[in-house]
Amino acid sequence: MTTVIQNVRVFDSAGLSEPREVIFGDVLIADAATEAGVVIDAAGATLLPGLIDAHVHTVLGRVDLQNLAQWGVTTGLDMAAWPLEFVNAMRHEADVAQIFSATVPAVGPGGNHAKMPGFPADGVVTTPAEARSFVERRVADGADWIKIVTEAAPPAGMDQPTVNAIVQAAHEHGLLVVAHSITTGAFRVAIEAGVDVSTHAPLDAVLDDELVARMREMAMVSVPTLTMMEGTAQLFAARGLRYENARDSVVKFYEAGIRILTGTDANSAPGAPFGPKHGESLHHEFELLVQAGLTPVEVLTGATSLSADTFNLKDRGAVMPGKRADLVLVDGDPTTDITVTRNIRGVWIAGERVR
Ligand SMILES: [Zn+2]
Repeated sequence: MTTVIQNVRVFDSAGLSEPREVIFGDVLIADAATEAGVVIDAAGATLLPGLIDAHVHTVLGRVDLQNLAQWGVTTGLDMAAWPLEFVNAMRHEADVAQIFSATVPAVGPGGNHAKMPGFPADGVVTTPAEARSFVERRVADGADWIKIVTEAAPPAGMDQPTVNAIVQAAHEHGLLVVAHSITTGAFRVAIEAGVDVSTHAPLDAVLDDELVARMREMAMVSVPTLTMMEGTAQLFAARGLRYENARDSVVKFYEAGIRILTGTDANSAPGAPFGPKHGESLHHEFELLVQAGLTPVEVLTGATSLSADTFNLKDRGAVMPGKRADLVLVDGDPTTDITVTRNIRGVWIAGERVR
């Protein structure tokens, strides 16, 4: 069935269009050659590409994906999930947010992640030889990218040659590498290894200028997950972790011209120290990024075309003929007031309206 949205301003990285008509079936189409099934007058509203949360976890399965969709998040980039049967089932859930997944992440032998109940032994990597076989297994699993957890030093974290070997092997397979780093030492390991995307932001100190300059030179992309850093800092303030360190690092990234994507670390894992809520938390992340100095247009670009480009999702991220009809309609103008993204009037996934 074809849907026509009339009198709507359309968001892209340049801002908002004049009011116009947008027509779609399961993909966006150029003109109304086919008869319209549904016509919606959207005067005063803004149409955005479906939002992308560039850091989620889907522990509870379909209910997490439903919550994402209700809040306009039509794509979730899952940064660690197992077992593979669960991941593959999640990939095929219909009428909810679509996920892409790292599957099992690589962690060092003695860190917090390796001690998580149920963490697969398969993800513990201690030598460069194990690094290569780890990447081979993820390729066999159909992982969409490789996720690693960097920590400052062994024995908790993987040593530098092991991290380097993972990055090299992933790149030989044409896969991006995303590194979880929450301390300056962990950032240094990730930068030395040449990872493509860094997720989280340091809570122990503001990242120093030298490391920020190197991130810029290597075109590393940041998914700072300020929502998660805010929640974690509140829980662990007694250990000297401060949200302001994460926020001020993001200010530096922004001033250096490092590309910033929107991710939350949304998770519903029972027992996780802090669990941003699927969907709703992305709108909070938008607000935190605006507070760190990004413009609303830059934040929304990070949630749409920039995330799609970074993760090579060619079928989405823009309201353009030929792209998937993953769409969010909000009342008002989110380019002047970012909180408007919460005023959701409609969400479509591959042209089907989410109920
Ligand atoms: Zn995470």
